Amino acid sequence: MSLKDFFNQDKLTISFELFPPKTEAGETSLYEHVARLMKFSPEFITCTYGAGGSTRGKTLEIIDKVKRQFNVPVASHLTLVGSSKDNLREYLQTATEQGVDYIVALRGDPPKGETEFTQAEGGLQYANELVELIRAEFAHFGVLVAGYPETHKDAVSPEIDLDNLKRKVDAGSDAIVTQLFYDNEDFYRFRDKCQARNINVPIVPGVLPVTSLKQIERITSLCGSKLPKKFSDALSSSDLVEDQYKAGIELAVEQTGDLISRGVEGIHFYVLNKSRATTDILDALNTNTVS
Ligand SMILES: Cc1cc2nc3c(=O)[nH]c(=O)nc-3n(C[C@H](O)[C@H](O)[C@H](O)COP(=O)(O)OP(=O)(O)OC[C@H]3O[C@@H](n4cnc5c(N)ncnc54)[C@H](O)[C@@H]3O)c2cc1C
Repeated sequence: MSLKDFFNQDKLTISFELFPPKTEAGETSLYEHVARLMKFSPEFITCTYGAGGSTRGKTLEIIDKVKRQFNVPVASHLTLVGSSKDNLREYLQTATEQGVDYIVALRGDPPKGETEFTQAEGGLQYANELVELIRAEFAHFGVLVAGYPETHKDAVSPEIDLDNLKRKVDAGSDAIVTQLFYDNEDFYRFRDKCQARNINVPIVPGVLPVTSLKQIERITSLCGSKLPKKFSDALSSSDLVEDQYKAGIELAVEQTGDLISRGVEGIHFYVLNKSRATTDILDALNTNTVS
């Protein structure tokens, strides 16, 4: 099914994001967790592409296995950083041969130790150019792109960041998946501004369930998202791992329930290769009403 069709159905589109595990044990456990998550009938599953293409082969291997084993549409993330156009074409060709369904088209971050993005020789500069390349030469792929409710960290201004998001959509993206965020008002403001700019593709919130204070402080400091006081207060009310987990799940149920009640077309869960938190959230939301 095409991505557009998924989002046009009269039901919430659920998707899960994995990352390539570093060890064999991690890989074995990944498939066990995906098996548990399959009870929610996700519309598709994605796998990230390591910084600077470091997991190129592994990303394709994981989604190939997930597709075969669970018979679910899959998306490969693909970043353009450090690659020539020919490298990108090669990857897209292999992905085509493997039957990958969708591409999450991204610029990527500068390699470790560098603070500024530099264009590779014979390469591209921004994600909208990658979307253009896919549309021109690999038009069979559904294309997702990244959006930033709290503005991308390198953006000149929130307004210019939205203009740049529109370039990606005008280049032919089917949907936007957002960076994680914890204040839904940021998402609603972002969605309104997108609509005002005629960005008319589905905008799917990316949700990362918080399971411990330490985890979330590390992640928000990496991606630049705010952690509302409500979250830090709830998570710091106990030092016990299980109490923090429960508080995090309660907050995630509240956050996703609110997003659903305000009409989002889908939710993309950053599952971090685990199933428990996402399962607890979707169970609590009662999947019958969700799907
Ligand atoms: C859902 C999601 C999945 C991700 N998956 C991965 C992954 O698998 N691997 C990974 O390494 N990283 C991943 N990232 C992180 C992402 O690579 C970084 O956030 C990166 O810094 C920006 O990528 P982008 O595709 O949003 O870039 P772009 O859309 O190219 O934007 C980058 C910056 O340039 C500006 N800009 C964009 N287009 C133009 C233009 N035409 N002219 C001038 N300025 C422009 C934007 O405003 C922004 O500030 C993901 C992020 C999200 C939200």
